[in-house]
Amino acid sequence: MKKFIDLHLHLDGSVPFTTVKKLMAEHNLPIPSDHDLRQQLSVNANCKSLDQFLEKFALPNKLMQTRHDLETIVYDLLTELKQQGLVYAEIRFAPQLHTKNELTQKTVIEAAIAGLNRFLADQQSKNNQPELHAGLILCLMRFKNNQVENMKTVELAKKFLHHGVVGIDLAGSEGPIPNIKYKPFFDRAIKLGIPFTIHAGEAAGPDSIRQALAMGAHRIGHGIHCIEDPELTKELIQQQTVLECCATSNMDTKAFNRITSYPIKNLLHKGMKVTLNSDDMTVSNTNLPREYKLLEEKTNLTSEEETTLYLNAVDAAFTSPDEKIRLRALIQK
Ligand SMILES: [Zn+2]
Repeated sequence: MKKFIDLHLHLDGSVPFTTVKKLMAEHNLPIPSDHDLRQQLSVNANCKSLDQFLEKFALPNKLMQTRHDLETIVYDLLTELKQQGLVYAEIRFAPQLHTKNELTQKTVIEAAIAGLNRFLADQQSKNNQPELHAGLILCLMRFKNNQVENMKTVELAKKFLHHGVVGIDLAGSEGPIPNIKYKPFFDRAIKLGIPFTIHAGEAAGPDSIRQALAMGAHRIGHGIHCIEDPELTKELIQQQTVLECCATSNMDTKAFNRITSYPIKNLLHKGMKVTLNSDDMTVSNTNLPREYKLLEEKTNLTSEEETTLYLNAVDAAFTSPDEKIRLRALIQK
């Protein structure tokens, strides 16, 4: 079985379909037909923008407001990832989006960690299949008036760092507010020793990537628009900045138009530290094995290139040197 690492996977965009149905039933919500439910959860080829894409998060968000629901979703998602051959995953979510009812950011994070720990304790490997290890990335949100909430997320990331949480991120609709406005939160993260990645160059252009670099990011969520700026591309290669590329998601949000010209191979051969990730499994109706297969079929991605993508992900992972040794050994077998 092939082994995979996902560094860019959103919890709310990846709630397993069966888990959505299970939780809707538990909440006594009317369950539509599978076809209609899939339309509510996943985009189709008519999706026009990142903002339209983000509409698909409405229903999952309703099912992510209690401790039980969050723990269940983390557990079920990890179970699915293990079946796909993942050996390491970093799962991200924004605690402040799950405080609409009884939860606080702290109890949201505790619920997700409970799901993670239950999975780690429960997982049984058959046929010498390696274990799946995972960590949580806490997203700050690009909203207008949420400075207090974002700073709270940073402080909580420090509290739970090495206890389930591995880093932070900046997510949400790109464009209205530039990344650089969020610099104070990442200054604080640097001070506290919290690793981070920043979404940039997805819907927005190269400038948003430059801003993320100015904020100290060594990992960029997407970053695919760097190709419009050769100087920036050179800089990213020199600094060995990691790009967390997500092919299908980029097609869905129209960040990129043609899969056949998806530049991951090109960037790889230029020496860029690229990785391949799934972003939102349910919204984009994909998973990491499918992403690899898609690029094999559409761009002739080779197994050597796949190994490099895997090893880049090991280098970039927010995890311990011992875990990196385990992950490198898995691919060399
Ligand atoms: Zn993302």
